[in-house]
Amino acid sequence: IEDSLRQAQKIEALGQLTGGVAHDFNNLLMVILGGLEMLDHTDEAARRKLLMDGMRQAAHRGASLTRQLLAFSRRQALQPQPVDLARQIGGMRELLARSLGGNVQVQLELSQDLWPVHVDPGELELVVLNLAVNARDAMPKGGAIVIRARNVPSLRLDGLRGDFVRLSIIDTGVGMTTEVQRRVFEPFFTTKDVGKGSGLGLAQVYGFAQQSGGNVQIESEVGRGTTVALLLPRSESQPERDGPAPEGLIPEAG
Ligand code: ADP
Repeated sequence: IEDSLRQAQKIEALGQLTGGVAHDFNNLLMVILGGLEMLDHTDEAARRKLLMDGMRQAAHRGASLTRQLLAFSRRQALQPQPVDLARQIGGMRELLARSLGGNVQVQLELSQDLWPVHVDPGELELVVLNLAVNARDAMPKGGAIVIRARNVPSLRLDGLRGDFVRLSIIDTGVGMTTEVQRRVFEPFFTTKDVGKGSGLGLAQVYGFAQQSGGNVQIESEVGRGTTVALLLPRSESQPERDGPAPEGLIPEAG
């Protein structure tokens, strides 16, 4: 029952795309088309640079929106495999710095003896990026985002039994009211301005945690900050040692 409910929810959610996301896309395209038009009529270098920066930003935003939509609506199941979190997340440093901008710092606190976890590495990266972007958005004055991972042996919680790794993304931002906390996992629920938020981030995080056989917990206090903690199942086998970290979905270029 839960499965078909989720399926129905998903279909309804995707049905709303035509309205909400098409609208966002249209706004972004308008920025680009308008910018091109103005470029045609200005020779001033500084002004041209400004226009191009705006267009580039709009294009990036469009690309990230598509990425989220694809991840959210993707039919094929995730491909869980043994993942070394320290390695996978350590490999995201540059991507995080580039995506988050200079206003926030990311601090990794990954314990030395972390167990490998059984997850889809590409999806994990998207999820961590989503959570980090949310954390940044919650701290308009800047600050530190802590990404922490700890082993949790013999967990017994709700439906979960066994060894897990808790991966937390911690911010000291604006926090959430209980009303917002209650709704955050709903697809398309957002408190952000039009064109800024899709409301798909935490819905995707939730789906990822469920499909991985884990869970996600949120602790938040208005004015103090938010911790989103993923419980990821320990992997029975060791990850590959050689070569670079398993490839994420996120292209390193850009
Ligand atoms: P989006 O970020 O596109 O709005 P999400 O599903 O990721 O979509 O988040 C839904 C809402 O949850 C956000 O609009 C925001 O109100 C709230 N939220 C998510 N993460 C945080 C956070 N770290 N701090 C405060 N509020 C948050």
